[in-house]
Amino acid sequence: MCLVDDANDRTAALIRDNWQRVRAHVAEVAEQVGRAPESVKIIGVSKYVGPKLTLQLAQAGCSHLGENRPQALWQKAQWNTEARADSWVQWHMIGHLQRNKIRRTLPLIARLHSLDSLRLAQAMQAEGSKLERPLPVLLELNVTRDESKTGMGISAVRELLDRAGDLDSITIDGFMAMSTHQASAAEARREFCRVREARDQFAQEYPNLDLRELSMGMSGDYREAIMEGATMVRVGTSLWKGVLPG
Ligand SMILES: *Cc1c(COP(=O)(O)O)cnc(C)c1O
Repeated sequence: MCLVDDANDRTAALIRDNWQRVRAHVAEVAEQVGRAPESVKIIGVSKYVGPKLTLQLAQAGCSHLGENRPQALWQKAQWNTEARADSWVQWHMIGHLQRNKIRRTLPLIARLHSLDSLRLAQAMQAEGSKLERPLPVLLELNVTRDESKTGMGISAVRELLDRAGDLDSITIDGFMAMSTHQASAAEARREFCRVREARDQFAQEYPNLDLRELSMGMSGDYREAIMEGATMVRVGTSLWKGVLPG
């Protein structure tokens, strides 16, 4: 693996500082808009680094970790188990999950952020019935009609939510979204606003579902996302400042 993974005292200190800075900033933005700091969970995205630096981030206090590729998540989860950190680290799968990777991934994760098709939901249903409890999942929503973006449009979401009752091995409790690449802060905020409005609309249409969670915002736009109601932000780059080359 060619990811940065030279863990030492210097990287531990840098990562701790980064974590504390991001955490303080997230709390500050939340308070600015009248929200409790605890209402925003920070998912530390570890895809840029190897397992040792990932563990240093967890040891700095970031116990929710996100990966966008299943194989990397498997590897790090295994490493965490060997380092006896698995009891307090929670893994979030934030990227596309291929159906042939469901079996190995589901037992390792606390949440899937990126459910992006009915087919995947049905395959997870079949596999997930072996889990002790339903897996919390978010639907990845694309409100921009940007073909290059991942995620489901409004009608695909509706088709899936219509069947949510049959999918009892997963619990759909909200949405995940990404802003358009290189969007300005104002554009990102508008897109996050549309995601929240879509969620509010779905919550009305499906009163039996509890769609409280909104996973939106990354290093460049978590501020805008929190202002628009994000309950989870997925932060990578800002947490690895000084650790990654360049
Ligand atoms: C990489 C990634 C992030 C983190 O992005 P940064 O800009 O590095 O903070 C968040 N969400 C997803 C789905 C990602 O793939």
